[in-house]
Amino acid sequence: MEICTVGGYDEVGKNMTAIKVGEHVFLFDCGFYLPGVIELQEQGEINYTKQGLRRVGGIPDDRVLDKIGWRKKVKAIFLSHAHLDHVAGLPFLADRYPNATIYGTPFTMKVLESLINDSTVMVRNKRRVVQSNSTHKIPGVPNNIKVEFIHTTHSTIDSTFIVLHTPEGGFFYALDYKFDDTPTFGSPPNYKRLKELGNENIQLAVINTLYSAKKESNLSERDADNMLREAFDNARSKDKALFITTFSSHIERLNNIVKYASKTRREVIFLGRSLAKYVDCAMKVGKCPFQNKIRVIKYRRQVNSTLRKVEADRGRYVIVCTGHQGEEGSILDRISKGETPFRFRNGDNLIYSSSVIPTEVNIESRRMLDERFERMGVILQKNVHVHGHGSQESKKKLIRMVKPKVIIPSHGDKKQEKDLICVAEEMGYKLGKTSYLSTNGNVIKV
Ligand SMILES: [Zn+2]
Repeated sequence: MEICTVGGYDEVGKNMTAIKVGEHVFLFDCGFYLPGVIELQEQGEINYTKQGLRRVGGIPDDRVLDKIGWRKKVKAIFLSHAHLDHVAGLPFLADRYPNATIYGTPFTMKVLESLINDSTVMVRNKRRVVQSNSTHKIPGVPNNIKVEFIHTTHSTIDSTFIVLHTPEGGFFYALDYKFDDTPTFGSPPNYKRLKELGNENIQLAVINTLYSAKKESNLSERDADNMLREAFDNARSKDKALFITTFSSHIERLNNIVKYASKTRREVIFLGRSLAKYVDCAMKVGKCPFQNKIRVIKYRRQVNSTLRKVEADRGRYVIVCTGHQGEEGSILDRISKGETPFRFRNGDNLIYSSSVIPTEVNIESRRMLDERFERMGVILQKNVHVHGHGSQESKKKLIRMVKPKVIIPSHGDKKQEKDLICVAEEMGYKLGKTSYLSTNGNVIKV
């Protein structure tokens, strides 16, 4: 089989991988490169187009598939999970693969649908919603090629490993995952099936490299749950405002937040379009256990009128919102600049159930945001969070179970990818023979 590492092999984001078996090509993920997309926003472009996104490098540069003659052979597009750096590019590129069926789990496909509805583009491709832990034939492809979706834990629900079974061996796609044996919503990863794959001739694995250098074992969502309980305990003053911010696609975390927020006897309000969107998707696929415990406020005008009420009666609500990266125009950013009817006062509480995504822009915006809040006397609790990517131990565990013949690191820059190469080396893989460092647009035959 041949692999074309289309995107996400020189950066964190715009993930896309193509696999060619005989005359059939299969695509895995098609995501945004968020710094590029933010650049577009700053240029005032709200209605994204393929051209605009290409200009800023916001989507995978899949024109390489034209150059190598693969584009017209694409039979299916498989989505691993709902994060934007894995799915958000697809609405803009799907028309280049009119005969490809798009596959994904229920939540992932709902998020895709909502991204399509938000955009001005049409997607005509056939779509198939598949359950985790299921195997499927692919239309227009011989029966001895099949795709399998295997449940894993990560920082959004319905995340999967994808396996393409072919006569030339299996291709294993491991973006993104964290082995969490004690998740607080949903089941642990399907270890049983992963172990079986160890005897099923997995020829090639593309593995997420993030945190490969991190030696400590990764924390479970159970730990995040304990951290949250403590944070809510620390913020008990009855007449002070209480805000908490997290990743809007992290349904499991939101569920835990609502659990503790409800115990405060305050009304729990989710503010903003992004939270509204993911909560709506989770509800539609029956995976939003907290839906009756919250009120969701979506549009700017209603957000402002809600914030006016919070200003008047600050002890009455818990506000869940976005903006933890200090993103310009987010609710927290606007509050910090005095652009909403609500103003933080001395002793009000803000919990960050998040970490700063380590890019220069984010680090700086978040620093400035915190500074403004600290000047107002807001009590900030930071890093009430465990991240969603497995540490070194998780990578080793995966490799030991699945036993791929060849490994290619993905989802990182060269330095990060080398970290996984080192891990593989410790386990007997040899760079250039059984492990490869690739770059965007490169083709490797294995
Ligand atoms: Zn992810």
